[in-house]
Amino acid sequence: MTKKKGRVFSGARPTGRQHLGNYLGAIKNYVALQDTYEDTIYCIVDVHALTTVETTSELKQNTYDMTLDWLAAGMRPDESMIFVQSHIPEVMELHTFLSMVTPLGKLTDLPTFKEKVRQQPHNINYGLVGYPVLMAADIALYKAVAVPVGVDQAPHLEFTREIVRSFNYRYNTNVLVEPQMVATEVPKVLGIDGKNKMGKSLNNHIELASTPKETQERVMQMVTDPQRARLSDPGNPDVCNVFTMHKIFSDAEEVERINDECRKAEIGCVACKKLFAKNLNENLMPFRERRAEFAQDPAYVWDVLNDGADRARVIAQETLSEVKEAIGLP
Ligand code: ADP
Repeated sequence: MTKKKGRVFSGARPTGRQHLGNYLGAIKNYVALQDTYEDTIYCIVDVHALTTVETTSELKQNTYDMTLDWLAAGMRPDESMIFVQSHIPEVMELHTFLSMVTPLGKLTDLPTFKEKVRQQPHNINYGLVGYPVLMAADIALYKAVAVPVGVDQAPHLEFTREIVRSFNYRYNTNVLVEPQMVATEVPKVLGIDGKNKMGKSLNNHIELASTPKETQERVMQMVTDPQRARLSDPGNPDVCNVFTMHKIFSDAEEVERINDECRKAEIGCVACKKLFAKNLNENLMPFRERRAEFAQDPAYVWDVLNDGADRARVIAQETLSEVKEAIGLP
Protein backbone atom coordinates (compact mmCIF):
# COMPACT_ATOMS: atom_id res chain seq x y z
CA MET A 1 0.00 0.00 0.00
CA THR A 2 1.40 3.41 -0.88
CA LYS A 3 1.41 5.74 2.03
CA LYS A 4 0.04 9.27 1.96
CA LYS A 5 2.65 11.98 1.69
CA GLY A 6 3.25 14.42 4.50
CA ARG A 7 3.60 14.30 8.23
CA VAL A 8 1.19 13.44 10.94
CA PHE A 9 1.73 15.09 14.30
CA SER A 10 0.16 14.31 17.62
CA GLY A 11 1.14 15.14 21.16
CA ALA A 12 0.13 13.77 24.52
CA ARG A 13 1.07 14.86 27.99
CA PRO A 14 3.30 12.48 29.98
CA THR A 15 0.65 10.82 32.09
CA GLY A 16 2.55 7.64 32.86
CA ARG A 17 1.08 4.18 32.53
CA GLN A 18 -1.65 4.31 29.92
CA HIS A 19 -5.22 3.17 30.38
CA LEU A 20 -7.91 1.75 28.14
CA GLY A 21 -9.17 5.27 27.36
CA ASN A 22 -5.72 6.31 26.08
CA TYR A 23 -5.45 3.12 24.09
CA LEU A 24 -8.83 3.20 22.39
CA GLY A 25 -8.94 6.99 22.11
CA ALA A 26 -5.42 7.67 20.90
CA ILE A 27 -2.70 5.00 20.80
CA LYS A 28 -4.59 2.56 18.57
CA ASN A 29 -5.00 5.32 16.05
CA TYR A 30 -1.35 6.43 16.34
CA VAL A 31 -0.32 2.88 15.50
CA ALA A 32 -2.68 2.64 12.52
CA LEU A 33 -1.53 5.96 11.07
CA GLN A 34 1.97 4.56 10.73
CA ASP A 35 0.61 2.45 7.89
CA THR A 36 -1.26 5.31 6.25
CA TYR A 37 1.21 8.20 6.27
CA GLU A 38 4.81 8.47 5.20
CA ASP A 39 5.87 10.24 8.38
CA THR A 40 4.37 10.09 11.82
CA ILE A 41 5.54 12.24 14.71
CA TYR A 42 4.44 11.51 18.24
CA CYS A 43 5.53 13.89 20.92
CA ILE A 44 5.35 13.62 24.67
CA VAL A 45 4.47 17.18 25.55
CA ASP A 46 6.15 17.67 28.90
CA VAL A 47 6.22 21.47 28.62
CA HIS A 48 2.47 21.52 28.11
CA ALA A 49 2.17 19.38 31.22
CA LEU A 50 3.81 22.12 33.30
CA THR A 51 0.72 24.30 32.84
CA THR A 52 -1.20 22.02 35.15
CA VAL A 53 1.35 19.83 36.94
CA GLU A 54 2.82 21.47 40.01
CA THR A 55 4.98 18.62 41.30
CA THR A 56 7.42 17.51 38.67
CA SER A 57 9.16 14.71 40.55
CA GLU A 58 7.31 12.07 38.54
CA LEU A 59 7.71 13.59 35.08
CA LYS A 60 10.67 11.41 34.13
CA GLN A 61 9.13 8.18 35.32
CA ASN A 62 5.83 9.06 33.66
CA THR A 63 7.61 9.78 30.38
CA TYR A 64 9.38 6.44 30.58
CA ASP A 65 6.24 4.48 31.47
CA MET A 66 4.25 6.11 28.72
CA THR A 67 6.91 5.41 26.10
CA LEU A 68 7.09 1.80 27.24
CA ASP A 69 3.34 1.47 26.75
CA TRP A 70 3.47 3.16 23.35
CA LEU A 71 6.20 0.82 22.14
CA ALA A 72 4.46 -2.25 23.50
CA ALA A 73 1.25 -1.15 21.78
CA GLY A 74 2.94 -1.15 18.39
CA MET A 75 4.46 2.26 17.82
CA ARG A 76 7.52 1.65 15.65
CA PRO A 77 10.45 3.95 16.40
CA ASP A 78 12.15 3.15 13.10
CA GLU A 79 9.17 4.69 11.33
CA SER A 80 7.71 7.16 13.78
CA MET A 81 9.63 9.92 15.46
CA ILE A 82 8.84 9.53 19.11
CA PHE A 83 10.36 12.16 21.35
CA VAL A 84 10.00 14.52 24.27
CA GLN A 85 8.86 18.07 23.55
CA SER A 86 11.43 19.81 25.77
CA HIS A 87 14.27 18.04 23.92
CA ILE A 88 13.54 20.32 20.98
CA PRO A 89 13.71 23.79 22.54
CA GLU A 90 13.12 25.30 19.08
CA VAL A 91 9.44 24.83 19.78
CA MET A 92 9.64 27.47 22.50
CA GLU A 93 11.15 29.93 20.05
CA LEU A 94 8.47 29.32 17.47
CA HIS A 95 5.88 29.65 20.23
CA THR A 96 7.18 33.14 20.97
CA PHE A 97 7.06 34.16 17.31
CA LEU A 98 3.54 32.79 16.93
CA SER A 99 2.41 34.56 20.08
CA MET A 100 2.94 37.88 18.25
CA VAL A 101 0.23 37.05 15.74
CA THR A 102 -2.22 35.61 18.26
CA PRO A 103 -4.94 37.87 19.66
CA LEU A 104 -5.00 37.54 23.44
CA GLY A 105 -8.80 37.86 23.62
CA LYS A 106 -9.24 34.76 21.50
CA LEU A 107 -7.07 32.74 23.85
CA THR A 108 -8.94 33.79 26.96
CA ASP A 109 -12.27 33.12 25.22
CA LEU A 110 -11.48 29.49 24.47
CA PRO A 111 -13.75 27.10 26.38
CA THR A 112 -10.74 24.95 27.30
CA PHE A 113 -9.05 27.93 28.97
CA LYS A 114 -12.22 28.83 30.87
CA GLU A 115 -12.51 25.27 32.06
CA LYS A 116 -8.95 25.29 33.37
CA VAL A 117 -9.64 28.55 35.19
CA ARG A 118 -12.52 26.81 36.93
CA GLN A 119 -10.42 23.73 37.67
CA GLN A 120 -7.35 25.48 39.06
CA PRO A 121 -8.32 28.98 40.19
CA HIS A 122 -5.19 29.11 42.37
CA ASN A 123 -2.90 28.57 39.39
CA ILE A 124 -4.02 30.56 36.38
CA ASN A 125 -0.61 30.93 34.86
CA TYR A 126 0.58 32.62 31.70
CA GLY A 127 1.47 29.24 30.16
CA LEU A 128 -2.12 28.13 30.49
CA VAL A 129 -3.28 31.01 28.32
CA GLY A 130 -0.61 30.21 25.77
CA TYR A 131 -1.30 26.47 25.71
CA PRO A 132 -2.93 26.54 22.23
CA VAL A 133 -0.08 28.69 20.88
CA LEU A 134 2.46 26.14 22.04
CA MET A 135 0.32 23.45 20.44
CA ALA A 136 0.29 25.45 17.20
CA ALA A 137 4.08 25.74 17.44
CA ASP A 138 4.42 21.97 17.88
CA ILE A 139 2.38 21.28 14.77
CA ALA A 140 3.82 24.08 12.64
CA LEU A 141 7.44 23.34 13.59
CA TYR A 142 7.23 19.96 11.88
CA LYS A 143 5.06 21.26 9.03
CA ALA A 144 2.53 18.57 9.85
CA VAL A 145 -0.23 18.29 7.28
CA ALA A 146 -2.48 16.08 9.34
CA VAL A 147 -3.34 16.07 13.00
CA PRO A 148 -5.53 13.33 14.35
CA VAL A 149 -7.87 14.74 16.95
CA GLY A 150 -11.10 13.88 18.64
CA VAL A 151 -14.01 16.26 18.29
CA ASP A 152 -13.28 17.92 21.63
CA GLN A 153 -9.91 19.07 20.31
CA ALA A 154 -11.33 20.40 17.04
CA PRO A 155 -11.51 24.05 18.21
CA HIS A 156 -7.82 23.92 19.17
CA LEU A 157 -6.83 22.68 15.77
CA GLU A 158 -8.96 25.29 14.06
CA PHE A 159 -7.09 27.80 16.19
CA THR A 160 -3.75 26.40 15.04
CA ARG A 161 -4.89 26.89 11.45
CA GLU A 162 -5.80 30.50 12.21
CA ILE A 163 -2.43 31.19 13.82
CA VAL A 164 -0.59 29.69 10.85
CA ARG A 165 -2.67 31.80 8.45
CA SER A 166 -2.05 34.94 10.50
CA PHE A 167 1.68 34.28 10.55
CA ASN A 168 1.89 33.67 6.82
CA TYR A 169 -0.27 36.72 6.12
CA ARG A 170 1.58 39.06 8.50
CA TYR A 171 4.98 38.17 7.10
CA ASN A 172 3.82 37.63 3.55
CA THR A 173 5.16 34.12 3.37
CA ASN A 174 4.04 30.54 3.04
CA VAL A 175 6.66 28.85 5.18
CA LEU A 176 4.15 27.52 7.68
CA VAL A 177 1.74 24.81 6.65
CA GLU A 178 -1.91 24.84 7.57
CA PRO A 179 -2.64 21.41 9.03
CA GLN A 180 -5.75 19.43 8.25
CA MET A 181 -7.70 17.81 10.97
CA VAL A 182 -7.97 14.06 10.67
CA ALA A 183 -11.27 13.63 12.43
CA THR A 184 -10.85 10.32 14.13
CA GLU A 185 -13.78 8.47 15.45
CA VAL A 186 -12.52 8.58 18.97
CA PRO A 187 -14.81 6.78 21.34
CA LYS A 188 -15.29 8.38 24.71
CA VAL A 189 -14.31 5.50 26.92
CA LEU A 190 -16.14 5.59 30.22
CA GLY A 191 -14.44 4.70 33.47
CA ILE A 192 -15.35 1.86 35.78
CA ASP A 193 -17.91 4.20 37.37
CA GLY A 194 -19.86 3.89 34.11
CA LYS A 195 -20.50 7.64 34.16
CA ASN A 196 -17.39 9.72 33.60
CA LYS A 197 -14.69 9.66 30.95
CA MET A 198 -12.02 7.17 31.97
CA GLY A 199 -9.02 8.97 33.43
CA LYS A 200 -6.38 8.85 36.11
CA SER A 201 -7.60 11.92 37.94
CA LEU A 202 -10.91 10.23 38.75
CA ASN A 203 -9.20 6.93 39.48
CA ASN A 204 -11.80 5.16 37.37
CA HIS A 205 -9.30 3.74 34.92
CA ILE A 206 -8.01 0.32 33.91
CA GLU A 207 -4.30 0.31 33.14
CA LEU A 208 -3.03 -1.64 30.16
CA ALA A 209 0.01 -2.82 32.08
CA SER A 210 -1.81 -4.14 35.16
CA THR A 211 -1.55 -7.80 36.03
CA PRO A 212 -4.44 -10.07 35.03
CA LYS A 213 -5.49 -10.22 38.68
CA GLU A 214 -5.48 -6.43 39.11
CA THR A 215 -7.43 -6.13 35.88
CA GLN A 216 -10.04 -8.58 37.06
CA GLU A 217 -10.38 -6.70 40.36
CA ARG A 218 -10.96 -3.42 38.52
CA VAL A 219 -13.42 -5.00 36.11
CA MET A 220 -15.42 -6.48 38.99
CA GLN A 221 -15.85 -2.92 40.32
CA MET A 222 -17.43 -1.75 37.08
CA VAL A 223 -20.86 -0.20 37.38
CA THR A 224 -23.48 -1.92 35.21
CA ASP A 225 -27.09 -1.03 34.30
CA PRO A 226 -28.19 0.85 37.45
CA GLN A 227 -31.82 -0.22 36.96
CA ARG A 228 -30.89 -3.84 37.34
CA ALA A 229 -31.03 -4.36 41.10
CA ARG A 230 -31.50 -8.12 41.27
CA LEU A 231 -30.18 -11.00 39.25
CA SER A 232 -33.75 -11.84 38.23
CA ASP A 233 -34.31 -8.33 36.78
CA PRO A 234 -33.80 -8.14 33.03
CA GLY A 235 -30.88 -5.84 32.17
CA ASN A 236 -30.44 -3.28 29.44
CA PRO A 237 -27.08 -3.70 27.69
CA ASP A 238 -27.65 -0.44 25.79
CA VAL A 239 -26.92 1.53 28.95
CA CYS A 240 -24.25 -0.76 30.37
CA ASN A 241 -20.58 0.16 30.07
CA VAL A 242 -19.51 -3.46 30.53
CA PHE A 243 -21.50 -4.38 27.46
CA THR A 244 -19.92 -1.49 25.53
CA MET A 245 -16.53 -2.94 26.44
CA HIS A 246 -17.61 -6.45 25.49
CA LYS A 247 -18.38 -5.09 22.03
CA ILE A 248 -14.76 -3.99 21.75
CA PHE A 249 -12.95 -6.92 23.33
CA SER A 250 -15.19 -9.98 22.95
CA ASP A 251 -16.01 -11.88 19.80
CA ALA A 252 -19.25 -11.17 17.93
CA GLU A 253 -20.96 -14.41 18.87
CA GLU A 254 -20.32 -13.91 22.55
CA VAL A 255 -21.50 -10.30 22.36
CA GLU A 256 -24.73 -11.47 20.76
CA ARG A 257 -25.25 -14.09 23.41
CA ILE A 258 -24.61 -11.66 26.29
CA ASN A 259 -26.96 -9.13 24.72
CA ASP A 260 -29.69 -11.72 24.56
CA GLU A 261 -29.12 -13.34 27.94
CA CYS A 262 -28.82 -10.03 29.79
CA ARG A 263 -32.17 -8.85 28.47
CA LYS A 264 -33.74 -12.13 29.63
CA ALA A 265 -31.94 -12.10 32.99
CA GLU A 266 -30.22 -15.33 32.06
CA ILE A 267 -26.75 -13.98 32.76
CA GLY A 268 -25.89 -11.95 35.84
CA CYS A 269 -23.60 -8.94 36.01
CA VAL A 270 -20.95 -10.82 37.97
CA ALA A 271 -20.67 -13.56 35.36
CA CYS A 272 -20.75 -10.99 32.59
CA LYS A 273 -17.91 -9.04 34.16
CA LYS A 274 -15.83 -12.17 34.78
CA LEU A 275 -16.17 -12.99 31.12
CA PHE A 276 -15.14 -9.49 30.14
CA ALA A 277 -12.10 -9.59 32.45
CA LYS A 278 -11.04 -12.87 30.88
CA ASN A 279 -11.39 -11.55 27.33
CA LEU A 280 -9.70 -8.28 28.17
CA ASN A 281 -6.75 -10.08 29.76
CA GLU A 282 -6.45 -12.32 26.72
CA ASN A 283 -6.50 -9.30 24.43
CA LEU A 284 -3.86 -7.52 26.44
CA MET A 285 -1.54 -10.49 26.79
CA PRO A 286 0.62 -9.78 23.71
CA PHE A 287 0.90 -6.14 24.79
CA ARG A 288 1.97 -7.16 28.28
CA GLU A 289 4.54 -9.63 27.01
CA ARG A 290 6.09 -7.03 24.73
CA ARG A 291 6.05 -4.49 27.52
CA ALA A 292 7.90 -6.85 29.84
CA GLU A 293 10.53 -7.37 27.15
CA PHE A 294 11.06 -3.64 26.61
CA ALA A 295 11.14 -3.08 30.37
CA GLN A 296 14.23 -5.26 30.62
CA ASP A 297 16.20 -2.61 28.79
CA PRO A 298 15.32 0.86 30.05
CA ALA A 299 18.28 2.33 28.17
CA TYR A 300 16.64 1.28 24.91
CA VAL A 301 13.51 3.24 25.77
CA TRP A 302 15.54 6.41 26.38
CA ASP A 303 17.52 5.72 23.19
CA VAL A 304 14.25 5.66 21.25
CA LEU A 305 13.37 9.09 22.62
CA ASN A 306 16.84 10.51 21.98
CA ASP A 307 16.93 9.17 18.47
CA GLY A 308 13.43 10.52 17.79
CA ALA A 309 14.56 13.93 19.02
CA ASP A 310 17.66 13.84 16.83
CA ARG A 311 15.53 13.26 13.74
CA ALA A 312 12.88 15.79 14.73
CA ARG A 313 15.51 18.44 15.52
CA VAL A 314 16.70 18.49 11.92
CA ILE A 315 13.21 19.43 10.73
CA ALA A 316 12.70 21.86 13.60
CA GLN A 317 15.90 23.79 12.94
CA GLU A 318 15.15 24.05 9.26
CA THR A 319 11.65 25.38 9.83
CA LEU A 320 12.88 27.82 12.44
CA SER A 321 15.50 29.32 10.20
CA GLU A 322 12.90 29.75 7.45
CA VAL A 323 10.60 31.39 9.97
CA LYS A 324 13.26 33.85 11.11
CA GLU A 325 14.08 34.73 7.56
CA ALA A 326 10.39 35.25 6.74
CA ILE A 327 10.00 37.56 9.73
CA GLY A 328 13.07 39.48 8.64
CA LEU A 329 15.08 39.09 11.79
CA PRO A 330 18.62 40.32 11.35
P1 ADP B 1 -3.87 14.85 26.89
O1 ADP B 1 -5.28 14.76 26.32
O2 ADP B 1 -3.62 16.11 27.61
O3 ADP B 1 -2.81 14.55 25.90
P2 ADP B 1 -4.64 12.52 28.33
O4 ADP B 1 -3.83 11.56 29.11
O5 ADP B 1 -5.87 13.06 28.93
O6 ADP B 1 -3.70 13.69 27.96
O7 ADP B 1 -5.04 11.83 26.95
C1 ADP B 1 -4.12 11.33 26.02
C2 ADP B 1 -4.91 10.86 24.84
O8 ADP B 1 -5.81 9.82 25.20
C3 ADP B 1 -5.77 11.98 24.21
O9 ADP B 1 -5.77 11.84 22.82
C4 ADP B 1 -7.14 11.70 24.77
O10 ADP B 1 -8.18 12.14 23.95
C5 ADP B 1 -7.14 10.19 24.90
N1 ADP B 1 -8.01 9.78 26.00
C6 ADP B 1 -7.75 9.90 27.32
N2 ADP B 1 -8.77 9.42 28.06
C7 ADP B 1 -9.70 8.97 27.20
C8 ADP B 1 -10.99 8.35 27.33
N3 ADP B 1 -11.51 8.07 28.53
N4 ADP B 1 -11.67 8.05 26.22
C9 ADP B 1 -11.14 8.31 25.00
N5 ADP B 1 -9.95 8.88 24.79
C10 ADP B 1 -9.22 9.21 25.86
